[in-house]
Amino acid sequence: MNSHPLKDQLRRSIRDLRISVTDRCNFRCSYCMPKEIFGDDFAFLPKSECLSFEEIHRLAKLFVCLGVKKIRLTGGEPLMRRNLPDLVSQILSIDGVEDIGLTTNGLLLGQQANRLYEAGLRRLNVSVDALDPELFGRLNGRGIKPGFILKQIEYAREIGFEIKVNMVVQKGINDSEILPMAAYFKEQGITLRFIEFMDVGNDTGWSFDKVITKKEIVERLKNTYELEPMNQNYFGEVAKRYRYKDSDAQVGFITSVSESFCSSCTRARLSSDGKFYTCLFASGGFDLRQMLRNGTNDEELLAVITSVWEQRTDRYSDERTEQTAKNRKKISMSYIGG
Ligand code: SAM
Ligand code: SF4
Ligand code: SF4
Repeated sequence: MNSHPLKDQLRRSIRDLRISVTDRCNFRCSYCMPKEIFGDDFAFLPKSECLSFEEIHRLAKLFVCLGVKKIRLTGGEPLMRRNLPDLVSQILSIDGVEDIGLTTNGLLLGQQANRLYEAGLRRLNVSVDALDPELFGRLNGRGIKPGFILKQIEYAREIGFEIKVNMVVQKGINDSEILPMAAYFKEQGITLRFIEFMDVGNDTGWSFDKVITKKEIVERLKNTYELEPMNQNYFGEVAKRYRYKDSDAQVGFITSVSESFCSSCTRARLSSDGKFYTCLFASGGFDLRQMLRNGTNDEELLAVITSVWEQRTDRYSDERTEQTAKNRKKISMSYIGG
């Protein structure tokens, strides 16, 4: 274990690693993979360019040596990666990993939830942006009905998973669903997290006008429910949580736009082709795959990861303006994972 905690230029440690296991997805959410760009001829990464499970496991181990305790598997749609449960077991075998979670659109949960649970996974974040069938079908770009995803969630819960639901809220698109979503998931006792629409990627139609802030959502909820703010569970917790006064259910908010949290950002990101990113809004990453495949040893890899983190100065959301949001060329959310 590392005896000198690794810190970046803003004194932030490295505690979380988000691993994108594929850049492919079976949905086409317009805020993430707009159909006009991610069409039939889009060049996704060929298999040979994606990290193998052995490579991911080796890198994860090195990140854990440097202080990472929590790992999240994401994508693209992570359940499209074959044999994902094997990766879950490999990651859980690393000494020092305290928590592993998975973010998914839920479409393939019915096929995989059992094996994932057997592999040791316990926490799932499932993305659901609306309950209205027509709207949900349009938002996911594939005509999938919400009832199907809700069934997968029920099934996964029966197996024993702890589930949170993520909803990206876009003004004039699905904000009419805030109250129905809150009512449904409150009733189910599932934590619903409202995510402010972010300017990740390019050509997703983002502008400040389309963001509904936490403040606005809380105001709408308060017309119907009594809410009580909750304390942070741990330093760097991203979601701001509230409890409904008349039940144990909670709601959370990911306020990357209205109340940025860069000063406590302890997250590193690994893309499916092995690039190491220190910010969701980065334009480029450090190529670890090349080093792995060139026969670089663990000591050298550790030195490189250390040096990239030590030089980190990212605080994009703290500094976001209409200008930076428009002009900066960013990697896409489906490539880096949320
Ligand atoms: N496919 C999986 C899913 O949708 O849950 C995992 C990958 S997805 C990129 C991870 C999370 O990022 C999802 O909860 C998704 O809603 C969120 N997301 C994608 N684009 C976003 C955007 N522009 N603003 C805010 N959240 C976004
Ligand atoms: Fe796919 Fe998730 Fe992006 Fe939607 S948000 S397109 S489900 S990766
Ligand atoms: Fe972290 Fe970058 Fe997001 Fe700030 S903008 S919280 S540095 S990922």
